[in-house]
Amino acid sequence: MSRYWSKIVHHLVPYVPGEQPPSTRAIKLNTNENPYPPSPRVVEAILREVGHGAEPLRRYPDPESRRLRETVAAYHGIRPGQIFIGNGSDEVLAHAFMALLKQERPLLFPDITYSFCSTYARLYGVDYRTVPLGDAFQVSVDDYTVPNGGVLLANPNAPTGRSLPLAAIEQLVARNTESVVVVDEAYVDFGGESALALIDRYPNLLVVQTMSKSRSLAGMRVGFAFGSETLIEALNRVKNSFNSYPLDRVAQAAAIAAYEDDAWFRANCARVVAARDRLTSGLQTLGFHVVPSAANFVFALHLNCDAGALAIKLREQGIFVRHFAAPWIDQYLRITIGTRDECDVLLAAVGTLVSEAPA
Ligand SMILES: *Cc1c(COP(=O)(O)O)cnc(C)c1O
Repeated sequence: MSRYWSKIVHHLVPYVPGEQPPSTRAIKLNTNENPYPPSPRVVEAILREVGHGAEPLRRYPDPESRRLRETVAAYHGIRPGQIFIGNGSDEVLAHAFMALLKQERPLLFPDITYSFCSTYARLYGVDYRTVPLGDAFQVSVDDYTVPNGGVLLANPNAPTGRSLPLAAIEQLVARNTESVVVVDEAYVDFGGESALALIDRYPNLLVVQTMSKSRSLAGMRVGFAFGSETLIEALNRVKNSFNSYPLDRVAQAAAIAAYEDDAWFRANCARVVAARDRLTSGLQTLGFHVVPSAANFVFALHLNCDAGALAIKLREQGIFVRHFAAPWIDQYLRITIGTRDECDVLLAAVGTLVSEAPA
């Protein structure tokens, strides 16, 4: 606490990201990064961008990421004007809070979801209500049809991994025409159904995606919002009142190259999905309950082992998983899907710890 702080700073509850251990030998299954590197074409594009010495870096990047928007628009069969690009989807979500979700009525989101939701709500002074998930962490669309100032759903949800079918998302959007529905699709490429195809029909729908997870570019910070030109304009107004250049030259070049190598992306997603199925059965064999996941992580509970203690013991062995000391979910571990080998090391370590636990 400092008397020099602005008043609002005293009341902020900052998001706590997963640990980034300094050792590259750690088995890092705690922040949902992709276990596979980006396409070699991404590296070539980066080298091209800074080729001829650092000369291009002298100049500001394109503030509107035009080439990247054109590439992504062509990829999805939409118009560049339906795309907003930010420095990671966290920034895109932040701008959505300020541009679209700060209304008279409260914003609705699930009680168990991406913890940045409440963090941003506090930062921007957005009134919100959390809606309890069902017993199996499921979202029920009926719960979101009360009058509201906006709805924010991660689909697949985090940290549970559960997903809603497209038909349910469409119902939600169709029943909330008076407010904006934001669907955060950070994990959609691992088995969810995207609502992107609905943006032409529903001017109140904003779909948010990221290159951090399925496209292996967490280190580049590139995120998107897709929606009607009117929603995108609101985001641009906020962005251009905050930082005109959210993406540097290298990030723009890397992102374009990543979209151009679709085969690389698809192959990695398929490998992660296969490893997820294998890890799920491995954990079940050890006595875990595993929530059905459409994401690149699993959410798992063991009735004989305290999740917090397990996470600490794994960490001592250089294996990092995520544990949230929050009500209802404090006996779960969120485990990112690693390579096949990483998953095997995790299963062996967990197997030993489980067998040592008193029954
Ligand atoms: C990882 C994640 C994001 C943020 O992604 P960035 O693009 O890296 O900022 C957004 N939403 C959810 C649900 C996530 O898990």
